[in-house]
Amino acid sequence: MKDTVQYKTRLEEELKELTAELKTIGVHDPENTENWIESGADLNDPSADPLDVADRTEEYGERRATVAVLETRYNNITRALEKIEKGTYGICEISGEEISPERLDANPAARTCTAHMEEENSLS
Ligand SMILES: [Zn+2]
Repeated sequence: MKDTVQYKTRLEEELKELTAELKTIGVHDPENTENWIESGADLNDPSADPLDVADRTEEYGERRATVAVLETRYNNITRALEKIEKGTYGICEISGEEISPERLDANPAARTCTAHMEEENSLS
C-alpha cells in the first residue's frame, strides 16, 4: 500500500489554487461539474463597437484556451483524489500497472505510467 497522504495534501492544495484561478476567469457549470464556462465575454451586445467586438473575440478565445487547460488539470486532480478514496491511486489507466513514485512526485495527478504518458491526453 502506497503512502498516499503526501500526494493527497499536494493535490488538495493544487486543487484549491486551481479553483481560485478558474473562478477569476470562469464559472462552474451547474449542469456538469467537470465543465467550466469562461465568464465576462459578452459577444452578443448589438450596440457594441465592431472593433471592440473583434478585440473581445480575441480575448474570449484566449480565455477559453486558458480555461480549457486549467479545466483539464482540475479534472485530473479531482480524479486522482477520487482514486485515493477508492484505493486505486497510482495505477496506470491504460496498462493497470503501478505508476512509478518518480512520476507521481513530478505529477501527483498523473493518470498513466511513464510508458503510456503519450496516451494520457487521449484518455477521456
Ligand atoms: Zn501504463
